Amino acid sequence: MRSLTVTEAAERAATIAVTSYDVELDLTRGPELFGSRTTIAFRGLAPRPTFLDVQAAEVRSISLNGAPIDVELVDDGRLPLEAPAEENTLVVDALMAYSHDGEGLHRAVDPEDKQAYVYAMTFLPAAPRVFACFDQPDLKAIYRVSVIAPTDWMVLGNGSARQVEPGRWTLAETKPLATYFATLVAGPYHSVTGEHDGIVLGLHCRQALAPHLDKDVEELFTVTAQCFDEYHRLFGIRYPFGEYHQVFVPEYNAGAMENPGCVTFADDFVFKAQATDSLRATRAMVVAHEMAHQWFGDLVTMTWWDDLWLNESFAEYMGYRTTNRCTRFDDVLTEFAFRRKPSGMAADQRSSSHPIAGNGAQDAQQALTEFDGISYAKGAAALRQLNTYLGEESFIAGVVDHLRRHSYGNARLADLIDSWDRVSDKDVRAWAAAWLRTKGIDTLRAEVSEDGSTVVVRRENGSPEPVSRPHAFTVTAYDGDARATSTRVLLESDSVTLELPGLDPEGLVLPDSGDDTWAKIVLDEGSQRRLPRLLPLIEDPVARAVAWGSLREGLLDAVVDPESYLAAVEAALPLDGDLAVESLLGGRFSGLVGALGTYLAASDDAGRVETVARRILESAAPGSNRQLVATRALIRTTVDTELLRDWLGDGSPAGLVTDEDYRWRIHERLCGLGVHGPDDIAREQDRDPSSEGALHARRCTAALPDPETKAEVWHALTTDATLTNAELYASALGFFRLEQVPLTASYVPRYFDEIPGTATIRTGWLVEQLAYLLFPRLAVDESTLQLSSTCLARDDLEPGVRRAVVDNTDDLRRVLRSRAAFPRG
Ligand SMILES: [Zn+2]
Repeated sequence: MRSLTVTEAAERAATIAVTSYDVELDLTRGPELFGSRTTIAFRGLAPRPTFLDVQAAEVRSISLNGAPIDVELVDDGRLPLEAPAEENTLVVDALMAYSHDGEGLHRAVDPEDKQAYVYAMTFLPAAPRVFACFDQPDLKAIYRVSVIAPTDWMVLGNGSARQVEPGRWTLAETKPLATYFATLVAGPYHSVTGEHDGIVLGLHCRQALAPHLDKDVEELFTVTAQCFDEYHRLFGIRYPFGEYHQVFVPEYNAGAMENPGCVTFADDFVFKAQATDSLRATRAMVVAHEMAHQWFGDLVTMTWWDDLWLNESFAEYMGYRTTNRCTRFDDVLTEFAFRRKPSGMAADQRSSSHPIAGNGAQDAQQALTEFDGISYAKGAAALRQLNTYLGEESFIAGVVDHLRRHSYGNARLADLIDSWDRVSDKDVRAWAAAWLRTKGIDTLRAEVSEDGSTVVVRRENGSPEPVSRPHAFTVTAYDGDARATSTRVLLESDSVTLELPGLDPEGLVLPDSGDDTWAKIVLDEGSQRRLPRLLPLIEDPVARAVAWGSLREGLLDAVVDPESYLAAVEAALPLDGDLAVESLLGGRFSGLVGALGTYLAASDDAGRVETVARRILESAAPGSNRQLVATRALIRTTVDTELLRDWLGDGSPAGLVTDEDYRWRIHERLCGLGVHGPDDIAREQDRDPSSEGALHARRCTAALPDPETKAEVWHALTTDATLTNAELYASALGFFRLEQVPLTASYVPRYFDEIPGTATIRTGWLVEQLAYLLFPRLAVDESTLQLSSTCLARDDLEPGVRRAVVDNTDDLRRVLRSRAAFPRG
């Protein structure tokens, strides 16, 4: 499919203005197709041809101002239109296909109760898979939607939904919206309603999750209310989109999507399994993030996709700060430092790194590919830095000015900079040029003078071009008992010399202890040496996370020996908080047993990590969050199959909730170690026939160290177009395992041969995700680099595949550099 270019979008926006969409959807036509009839009212602004976007299974009829148009004219998703009249009515009657990849109108069937659920994800470029439209963010229009649905279904959308007769629904006319916000949710969803400050609230999920949602209604509504109050206070603009529904939908690609009035979330956020505190905090943050978008993104929308980062950075920044300030999850900034920031820092050091803003994405597809950890984590960190630099009052005043000027319209970064410029006497344009228009991450390096009386913090430019970014941050000196003395610093040149009253030869100095800026932190030698002892004594969890981050970046840069890193983990982690334990010992790729695990090459490294997990578990209180976190860490790392089997029986840790998730985690580990097999998986699935159980079973199967099973799983991953996104992710996550590196060696070349071809059977998001998840990152070897460069020399790689290969290869190169610098047995 052709991707809309920025030139085409600008020309179309100068040719037409869309007034309204009347969309009629018929969801009673069976499991494959739905009826979609769209009546578009639009005005002609210039006498030149243009085009409409429509991705239908079958276009049945088209008429423009009453005259029929040949449906055969639709080519590759576009209908060419002649120069428009002043006022136009275009009617497109089509049959469209439900999707199973999470984009368009996705239809999922719960395997347990066989109920079907649909939801629309119209984010770039999927709106034309649901209704005919002029799909670009700056052609906003009002929507009137009506739906025919099975009589036992409920319907939700951007406008409040009303059932006018059994199975017939109309949705209230919306405010002007961009096409990518148009959503629809329909099915036998379970609903809970509430109200806050005159706003109707709704929470919805599939029936099988109803009891789990019901448990958390109070928490979710409380967070929702707290966020509304904060945004009303900050922006001084009432929430503009009527009711506020938050729907937890199955098989979702993203974490959530900010559709005005009807936010959709991945239904992993309804906690069926025991949830850690940090997962609850993350969910609250996502609620706050999506709500921030209602103003920033939905009310004021970017003109073109290259400013998408600004939507996300802003929502990310607001999501974290609002959760931290206004909800009970006041440790969420530590979570940002531990888990969110590393992904952005890694992205900013790869060859694919790019400036936060102004990447000049020439088409929508390219813009999407550049939508990454830099868009979220670095952008959010940069906005936090700007807030520190301008001060809260000016920062917010600029945002409010921007929102007021462009309500219900579109704007660019330059408009927001203008707004900040109006309210601040600082040089915002210079700040934006240095921070937003360049790529790369600076290093802030501390040096203590020989007599121990002063500290110099030097800035090393991390960009390929000469650029001097100002950094506003805090430097904290800790004495030998980790008592803190902090100083605010504005670094505007290459270095700053500080006379810190708290300097102690037995202590440590930590630049950016408040995590206010975006930089790699390198400690002076003495501080580095004393870090393992002092780190757990530091009171502020954010400062501890910054200290861990300094170690992590040193490890990734091949300047901190893996041995020193591991020794710090052994010394300090058991005394640190739950978030540290969860971040360093857990996580798909972020934890020590994830991507960082590849840095640990000595034969007993894994055993040492396991011992740390065991120590933490032994000291955790029964029933505590720490116990849950440590148990999961130990399951991931242990080779003690006796213990794991015991845990599946009666011997689980006292006080721990032994739910299905817990049992499946143990099964997966035992499958990976070759102790459990297909019969065990089948038996467990009999106990847990839920959709989550089916995915766990799939992941366990992929983990089995059996060559035939591996071959079957691989075949499905690379050739089976019928698998849903959720099924693909489950298999991909189970496939490559640290214990099975020799067994899966033949799949390393096959990855580079076969993954590019998956782009012919799958669509955008899935293709890149799969290429990313399956990358053979455990094959730490020069030969993997060779295979990768041969693959990248191809000129037919889908951009998402290329990006996944490029990024993972960069990461692999760093591991190899560390192994070369610090050879280990
Ligand atoms: Zn967002």
